[in-house]
Amino acid sequence: MSDEEVRLRGVGVSPGIGHGAVFIHHPEDEEPPKRRIESSEVPGEIARFEAALIATRAQILEMQQRIAEAIGAKDASIFDAHLLVVEDHTLIDEVLRTLQRDLWNVEYVFSEVANRYAKTLSEIDDPYLRERAFDIYDVTKRIVRNLMGRTTRSLSQLDSPHIIVAHNLTPSDAAALNRQLVIGIATDIGSKTSHTAIMARSLNIPAVVGLKDASTRLKSGDNVLLDGTNGLVIVNPADEALSEYGELEVRLEKVEELLTEIRDTACITADGTQVILSANIELPEDVELVKEAGAMGVGLYRTEFFFLNKTELPNEEEQFQAYQAVAEAVQPNSVIIRTLDLGGDKFLSHSHIPMEINPFLGCRAIRFCLERPDIFKAQLRAILRASAGGNVRMMYPMISGISELRQANEVLENCRTELRAEGIAFDEEMETGIMIEVPSAVMVADALAREVDFFSIGTNDLIQYTIAVDRVNERIAHLYQPTHPAIVRLLEMTVMAAHAHGIWTGVCGEMAGEVALTPLLIGLGIDELSASPGLVPRVKKAVQSLEAKQCRQLIEDVRNVTSGNEILAKCEAMARTRYPELLSFGAGPE
Ligand code: PEP
Ligand code: MG
Repeated sequence: MSDEEVRLRGVGVSPGIGHGAVFIHHPEDEEPPKRRIESSEVPGEIARFEAALIATRAQILEMQQRIAEAIGAKDASIFDAHLLVVEDHTLIDEVLRTLQRDLWNVEYVFSEVANRYAKTLSEIDDPYLRERAFDIYDVTKRIVRNLMGRTTRSLSQLDSPHIIVAHNLTPSDAAALNRQLVIGIATDIGSKTSHTAIMARSLNIPAVVGLKDASTRLKSGDNVLLDGTNGLVIVNPADEALSEYGELEVRLEKVEELLTEIRDTACITADGTQVILSANIELPEDVELVKEAGAMGVGLYRTEFFFLNKTELPNEEEQFQAYQAVAEAVQPNSVIIRTLDLGGDKFLSHSHIPMEINPFLGCRAIRFCLERPDIFKAQLRAILRASAGGNVRMMYPMISGISELRQANEVLENCRTELRAEGIAFDEEMETGIMIEVPSAVMVADALAREVDFFSIGTNDLIQYTIAVDRVNERIAHLYQPTHPAIVRLLEMTVMAAHAHGIWTGVCGEMAGEVALTPLLIGLGIDELSASPGLVPRVKKAVQSLEAKQCRQLIEDVRNVTSGNEILAKCEAMARTRYPELLSFGAGPE
């Protein structure tokens, strides 16, 4: 790219402005190239393979040393198993035999043989061999990278502030980001409700996704200005753009100042309806942001992020410590701990979850937990123990019907019985709720409401499953419509079923943080809104500026409207008359 200013348009998923140098992040799992070789090339390929093994061994030793110095020899010892892979003669001999027999380039032969070897091990019902399979996958990637002459500039090696540009970032990549060193995120693919975008919002890192080819057009070191509010990346920004954005930043700061002033005020509409306003967190340390935002506790704690990027599953005790720390930090408010929602777009880095063709419709969330009672029970026991302080609530994700709820409750009851027998304290009255995020759950919400203490609507998934639109696929993002009349009706049905049975309903999906939609949610009678901490002050301002009575009238006005865009326009019109400063951040300069 020349020094000319170039503007790349995408979708802004985390507001704010970042300006700095690009760091291109290459995904680690790129396919190795496949190329025929002549017999005469075999010795050269073997020499390359030996050099890559030696380089890999040296890198593992160096990494082991670094980790031993930073966090101790015990954690560093996990790399011993990686070293064994580099020296595994069965594997190496098979690679050499296949290379001579099939005459393909060595990176291709090696990755085929190693992946087959790992797959065989992973299918044996033995935890030790399964772990060895994950080691082989990890080391294979490293050896292939060395064969391809790629240096790994992993995100964790960043040592100065950069804007990360990647084809895609996984939620595990995002969870590992250091917010001090990442001043912006730009990806080719992605959408507003992907867990990577959610993570970026949580970390308050401006982000733009859906940039199509930014990761190949840009290179490390390029100077870019990233506007996460308007979904724009300006490469080599000219003076005019820089001063325009300088002014915008001043305007944004003014709005932030105004929002800081209302931080400790109540979240109540202008005509006196109280809305509980809480915050979503992904990691235990995010709880600091909840207090700073002026939220009433945590409405959704996505516990699975604690499980990502770990070499081993956190045990009951580690989980207990984390949950208890969050519960203590939000006292006297409460924390709603959501049980594991693995699967979909969130996988353990050394996943035990088999690959699925439709992961969002597969063994995700409560389905995975019911399949793995060992993992589920450890978490439920940890949550129960943390509830001893009295301000912990718990909810299950992705409940699709009554039998799933009952099965989950049965495991919970077993855990209670065990803890009582062991004389371990917990809150016998701990409230248990469910997320409403599968359309079938809405249709039977009256039955579900009889057996739970609250509902929390996960609009991110409810929209995805209702409109059949993959929440992370940018090609169909235009169909992902929170104001689709079907969604408005499902929300209303949920609230009505809950209220008829005397329980409350919250919304903890991304819709709760979209101030243009606050009139709709208040009009529907939602009792609690839980949004990313960075968005909480805006939502509070929006609630305070609205009248519940007029919001209810809005619902009547859109009852027979069949177009989602028209419903959105009506919501925006109401929001614009009450809090225009929260909606028009505007530059969006062309
Ligand atoms: C949702 O689906 O709206 C939700 C809050 O859960 P998650 O985004 O983690 O799937
Ligand atoms: Mg969900």
